[in-house]
Amino acid sequence: MNFERIDELLLGEPVYRIKQIKKALYQDLIDDWSQATTLPLILREKLNKESPLAIDAELFESDDKKTVKALITLKDGVKIETVLMEHKDGRNTVCVSSQAGCALACAFCATGKAGFKRNLTAFEIAQQVFLFGRYLKKIKQKITNIVFMGMGEPFLNYDNVLNTIKFLNDPDGFGLGARNFSISTSGIIEGIRKLSTERMEINLAISLHAPNQKLRSDLMPINKKYPIGKVLEAVAEYVRTRKRRVMFEYVMISGVNDSNKDANELAKIMKKPLYFVNLISLNPVPGFEPSTSERTEKFKTILLEHGVQVTQRYRFGQDIDAACGQLAGKDE
Ligand code: SAH
Ligand code: SF4
Repeated sequence: MNFERIDELLLGEPVYRIKQIKKALYQDLIDDWSQATTLPLILREKLNKESPLAIDAELFESDDKKTVKALITLKDGVKIETVLMEHKDGRNTVCVSSQAGCALACAFCATGKAGFKRNLTAFEIAQQVFLFGRYLKKIKQKITNIVFMGMGEPFLNYDNVLNTIKFLNDPDGFGLGARNFSISTSGIIEGIRKLSTERMEINLAISLHAPNQKLRSDLMPINKKYPIGKVLEAVAEYVRTRKRRVMFEYVMISGVNDSNKDANELAKIMKKPLYFVNLISLNPVPGFEPSTSERTEKFKTILLEHGVQVTQRYRFGQDIDAACGQLAGKDE
């Protein structure tokens, strides 16, 4: 699929034609121009020849069929991963990558271990959404949520990420409401500040994973450049100006960040209006074990006793390496 080429081919076409094409591509989610029956046959044939819509991807389904992972090969051969999660409540969330790989090397993350290749273009990000939009259409379903929790640090590719959201938000196009997008960041302060100034009501999530400077730096090297205290200040400012909830992701790692002491320390910094902690079960990576469910329960109880809002994340797609932090873009 090549968008730049589509624009070229349509140069000089009337406005209504462009509208028909937008509808076919982003609402009807066609995967072959022959399905765009509002267009003259000759144009369909030309588009099919010069700008085919196929996306080069291999799909993997989890045993329970609730998670599908796509391994997409980009034009330059770089591989990225995208995950679709079909929730029991009817939501269909697509977890998109913003970069091929990630330079931030968090200790517990498979993406970080594989290193950084390059930023994705807005089109390469949007393409991940169309792939699963088309997939769901075949079973008469729709994407309801898009989360930037795949490979990469979205705020180190800020403009392309925001342009993708603006593009997918366009009511004449894909038309997904801004509130259905979430960006997860390891704490890039410039990004948090910039997001505060955007008109759109995009959700913000912070990968916290530790309650203090020392432990967080051990787990997330980026914490040396953007210390936890400064990140929390930027979030506080965001909450003051935007009055929107912020999610703090906390991955439970056995014997590392899951003690009662950690919970108490975390409670102190999280007991704020509009803050909530999302406890995530660690998807195993070499050297780290997930906390037991008893430990997680205890940890959660301590947070709740302090009046902190807590949610827990359901595990998706571990068997196909499609869970958070397992996306490494490797060939199976
Ligand atoms: N780079 C961004 C967004 C992508 S990572 C960020 O770090 O926020 C998406 C989420 O998956 C983050 O909260 C990240 O900390 C988490 N994650 C990474 N490795 C994980 C693992 N092994 N198990 C569970 N969650 C993990
Ligand atoms: Fe990068 Fe996020 Fe993984 Fe850290 S957790 S290495 S920031 S993708």
